[in-house]
Amino acid sequence: MRAPATHSPQTAAPKPAAKSAPQKALEKLGLVRDVDLALHLPLRYEDETRILKLRDAREGDTLQIEARVTHQEVGYRPRRQLVVTVDDGSDTCTLRFFNFYPSMQKALAVGQRLRIRGEIKGGFSGWTMLHPTARPAGGELPSALTPVYPTVAGLPQAYLRKAVLSGLARAELSDTFAPGDLSPLNPQAQGGLWTLHEALAFLHHPRPDVAIDTLMDHSHPAWQRLKAEELLAQQLSQLQARRARAALRAPVLLPDARPTALRQRLHAALPFALTGAQARVSQEIAVDMARHTPMHRLLQGDVGAGKTVVAALAAAVCIDAGWQCALMAPTEILAEQHFRKLLGWLEPLGITTAWLTGTQKTKERRAMLEIIENGQAQLVVGTHAIIQTKVHFKNLALAVIDEQHRFGVAQRLALRNKLQHEAMEPHLLMMTATPIPRTLAMSYYADLDVSTLDELPPGRTPIVTKVLAENRRAEVIERIRAQVAQGRQVYWVCPLIEESEMLDLSNATATHAELAEALQTPDGQHAVGLLHSRLPPDEKKAVMAQFVAGQIAVLVSTTVIEVGVDVPNASLMVIENAQRFGLSQLHQLRGRVGRGAAASACLLMYSTGDAPRLGEAARERLKAMAETNDGFEIARRDLEIRGPGEFLGARQSGDQMLRFADLAVDTALLEWARQEAPLLLERHPALAAKHVQRWLGSKAEFLKA
Ligand code: ADP
Ligand code: MG
Repeated sequence: MRAPATHSPQTAAPKPAAKSAPQKALEKLGLVRDVDLALHLPLRYEDETRILKLRDAREGDTLQIEARVTHQEVGYRPRRQLVVTVDDGSDTCTLRFFNFYPSMQKALAVGQRLRIRGEIKGGFSGWTMLHPTARPAGGELPSALTPVYPTVAGLPQAYLRKAVLSGLARAELSDTFAPGDLSPLNPQAQGGLWTLHEALAFLHHPRPDVAIDTLMDHSHPAWQRLKAEELLAQQLSQLQARRARAALRAPVLLPDARPTALRQRLHAALPFALTGAQARVSQEIAVDMARHTPMHRLLQGDVGAGKTVVAALAAAVCIDAGWQCALMAPTEILAEQHFRKLLGWLEPLGITTAWLTGTQKTKERRAMLEIIENGQAQLVVGTHAIIQTKVHFKNLALAVIDEQHRFGVAQRLALRNKLQHEAMEPHLLMMTATPIPRTLAMSYYADLDVSTLDELPPGRTPIVTKVLAENRRAEVIERIRAQVAQGRQVYWVCPLIEESEMLDLSNATATHAELAEALQTPDGQHAVGLLHSRLPPDEKKAVMAQFVAGQIAVLVSTTVIEVGVDVPNASLMVIENAQRFGLSQLHQLRGRVGRGAAASACLLMYSTGDAPRLGEAARERLKAMAETNDGFEIARRDLEIRGPGEFLGARQSGDQMLRFADLAVDTALLEWARQEAPLLLERHPALAAKHVQRWLGSKAEFLKA
């Protein structure tokens, strides 16, 4: 078997001085080292190994022919162009070039025999090709398919091909694991038997007789090797991150078992009993915090599962041990809500809580900074303001990040660095309402410990979700009127606000006016509020407070309410232009209702704009929403529809995205990598290091956050 030799004598070694535009473009693609180039794999291939006959052509084929020029002219319709007719003995074809030079006219002169390659189209006047490549006929045919690489502006394919070829020739590609290690995954044997070098040599220059489908869908054994390599690198780097963290120290927060301890008193004061899941998860967290290595735990629980109280109990353990706790939330509204809730629980128990946001008044802020620094504030709740350099904690031992996927790596790191104490780091508890599907938990999140709230508090009635077209708006408004008449509250979510460039979207302001009019009482009163991201923070707060207090019955809002808002009396959620939202976002929004005992509903209103019908992906999303309330199922489908890139959010995935492996398909390889990584690290640490370096290079450091 095996790939043709690809070691090429020509090496276009880029000189360090004065970088050319293509060299800069290479760097932009991250193609710096030889091995980076070797691992830059083709998107697709062109078959230049064969000469075909025009008589066998089909519309839309890309084909290579050899033919003689029989006619040439410069045409002017629709614009100036060079028109060349060629004949290959089986049929004729017209070539058109809109930009041409005199030299081309000469090269394509009547009588010349040419090798021509391009996409062929049929038409009234026979076959045509637009801007084909043409060179003199004859000469050797390549023995392998021609690779087409992903590239960027300023980096011509030919330059890139040369660079990759020489990178491949020079790169050190000795195996870090034996080809046979993969054979159990691929009982047909060939799958396991490719070395890295063989796999790369093949993928850059496959023999023309390869089943091209297996290259395109990455099922070919050479691709299997590459994907296994990539997944192994990811697992190794996560393991290394975990080990690096294990070498760090954190304050030991031993639970105080006395009934007078804050934790016990908080527990006793709660207006409800913990669910089994909450009790179990609290225990998992307590065990972590009692260790002298920093906790790095993700608490996932569907919207409304009751994560806040779990965080409060962890904070109580921390405060009992004499340390400070911080809770950071992605939006001011959410932070405020946490603050109120925690204040309500903890203040009666004698705990001082500080509040920090970017928008608070200087005087208040100064006072807060002071009690944070002198330790009087045992708990600090706020937005990103918490991680600013001006904020000094006396002794931060537990950092809680709500809706962690809204924060980037740098922000998490900044929070971890807030403990300036004998080279220690605080314990980190991250919370998310977007449950992480198993494959992601095993890959991107492999260095996290995960706790799951898999049980909702009792007494919730399931939310009924309906999908309806925009033309049923009047019905929807009737339904709102009925809810309001029963003393219930309603959310109406619009995707964009006025002045947006997307004028086709109905905007929150107009909807607010519409509902205010529809729900007006005879004396002209109405209880419709408006919340959008351009409101000043004070007004936002006031509107939210009115809604929480029940003074506003219908809250029209852009997605600022997306995360965490908790108003149990709200029982109807209307989402306008629902087709514009992502699945996880819809699920989060829907989670704002169904928090009390009343039957709740979510109406997903879609509009198709000018299009006759909804797009495939949008239809899938809305269907999934109507079919299930299960956050895990939603997350799984979301991953299927969108892929992990969008799921993870650009900010946190960034460089660590998998390029080749597909988690939806490559579960077996992922399992393999997960088992292999600790073995390799244990038995052959040097090979493990080489593997990570090869695949991730300088990005390896980044992953440690
Ligand atoms: P999320 O997990 O979405 O952050 P919250 O912490 O906001 O959920 O909790 C949702 C609601 O459920 C809140 O009103 C909270 O007080 C309430 N809650 C939490 N735990 C329980 C429980 N064990 N029993 C009853 N209600 C609970
Ligand atoms: Mg929450």
